[in-house]
Amino acid sequence: MAEYPVAAATSPNRHRDRMRYDVATVHAILDAGFLAHLSFVIDGRPQLIPLAYGRDGESLYLHASSGSQLALAVRASGAEGFPVVAAVTHVDSMVLSRSAMHHSMDYHCVMAHGGLKHVADRAEQLHASRVIIDHLVPGRADDCREPNAKELAQTSMFRLDLDQVAAKVRDHGLAEDENDLDLPYWAGVAPLATVRGPLRPDRDQEPPAYLAAWLDAS
Ligand SMILES: Cc1cc2nc3c(=O)[nH]c(=O)nc-3n(C[C@H](O)[C@H](O)[C@H](O)COP(=O)(O)OP(=O)(O)OC[C@H]3O[C@@H](n4cnc5c(N)ncnc54)[C@H](O)[C@@H]3O)c2cc1C
Repeated sequence: MAEYPVAAATSPNRHRDRMRYDVATVHAILDAGFLAHLSFVIDGRPQLIPLAYGRDGESLYLHASSGSQLALAVRASGAEGFPVVAAVTHVDSMVLSRSAMHHSMDYHCVMAHGGLKHVADRAEQLHASRVIIDHLVPGRADDCREPNAKELAQTSMFRLDLDQVAAKVRDHGLAEDENDLDLPYWAGVAPLATVRGPLRPDRDQEPPAYLAAWLDAS
């Protein structure tokens, strides 16, 4: 599959030219992130929570405390899962325009709609845990103790299959009105970046190779 289908849930009203439905763009945005904002409705009240995630092929794995509102709702949902929207956003630049209203941001963003499913199988729970940990820092899952039975009972694992998913990308920088171009204000693009490190080791230890590679990749 090269492209995700354009679904009603993934069709915007505005700026359709910024939408991307190709699998490569969606995967790249998801793989570059580690934090998803998950939106859902409980008892008529909208909720939004940030969660770590990991991508495994066409699924995202997430987890939350078994006593959380989200976990209770997901476990009570049927085969279709509990309806959610997950957003992963990278802000690349501030766009500082000569006019107040044309200030903007360049960004890469993915939204995935669907039913969040409870992972009940113990082998898949352990797999989900590894996917999430390795998504945060590749190689880390082999360098920590795996969850025990008590921890797996305290933490609910979820899976969101990527079918109603799309990306939106703004990458054109300034978009000025012709009449504003001679105004005296500074205008341009202010790039933003996430910085990794320096590490703060718990003990006097050299960082393992996978961690040094992760630092170098920033
Ligand atoms: C960092 C950042 C800052 C933004 N700031 C503003 C702002 O200040 N004002 C503003 O109007 N808009 C802003 N946007 C854009 C905003 O997120 C929406 O894309 C925009 O409001 C489109 O609304 P719509 O009615 O066309 O889409 P909707 O009808 O609301 O969305 C329909 C569907 O289109 C897809 N979609 C829409 N937006 C996105 C997205 N951003 N990423 C991935 N899929 C998407 C989703 O599948 C969504 O369910 C910002 C986006 C980002 C990432």
